[in-house]
Amino acid sequence: MWFKKKIKAKPEEKLELPDGLWAKCEACGEILYRKELEKNLWMCPKCHFHFRISCRDYIALLLDDAKLDEEDTDLEPLDPLDFPNYKRKLKDAQQKMHMKDAVVYGLTKIGGTPTIFTAMDFGFMGGSMGSVVGEKVARAIRAAYEKELPLVILSASGGARMQEGIFSLMQLAKTSAELALLNQKRIPYISILTHPTTAGVMASYASLGDIIVAEPGALLGFTGPRVIEQTIGGKLPPGFQRSEFMLEHGLVDIVVSRKELRNTLIRILNIVWKHG
Ligand SMILES: [Zn+2]
Repeated sequence: MWFKKKIKAKPEEKLELPDGLWAKCEACGEILYRKELEKNLWMCPKCHFHFRISCRDYIALLLDDAKLDEEDTDLEPLDPLDFPNYKRKLKDAQQKMHMKDAVVYGLTKIGGTPTIFTAMDFGFMGGSMGSVVGEKVARAIRAAYEKELPLVILSASGGARMQEGIFSLMQLAKTSAELALLNQKRIPYISILTHPTTAGVMASYASLGDIIVAEPGALLGFTGPRVIEQTIGGKLPPGFQRSEFMLEHGLVDIVVSRKELRNTLIRILNIVWKHG
């Protein structure tokens, strides 16, 4: 018996991209000038793909005077399971991101309306939700409840933080319970879903908004499409679990370009919340 000789594919010629000057669109492959991209709020001018941006960028984009009175900035995770490498990974992420964990929250104004605003950052360990992320989200919800102010949570997350095991999973129940309380006071909660929002975060507060707004093309769902395909042994329809598919199937209320996100928030707050 003999085997066909494997021909190794020649590695594609790498385009030399000077660091920091150009970026490649992960959807259409277009090479883009970073400065232009930044001016365009990190949306691909060719295919409208929304690049991931940080929670700081969203603060600048969405909030009046780009101002958030941040709470609990020093709250940081422990390593309750003594999980291999968790402490080191946390430290690296904290140094890289200049934050103690993957979420920020506080009081702000959006179009003049006092609002409790919360934003996750995918750059911090994939926006994973451990005990601190869950606690801060729960405290944000509680602040909206106590101050009787509308709540906005912007999500970007791969799901629960496996390094914290059950402590991470407990956050699903905790945040959902807080939202149930908020609902009793009839205080509106607007959930903004960005690419990607999946697993434990999608299975708790991200999908519990009274109004759910999504950025275009974002991957939204519990389990990723690859795992589902392996499980059901079949192909999924095109665009499955993207914002537009979710809109069509009723899980999302509105899909809105990043350029229109702030105005959309202001409009929603004016409709659902009387202030002043
Ligand atoms: Zn593109």
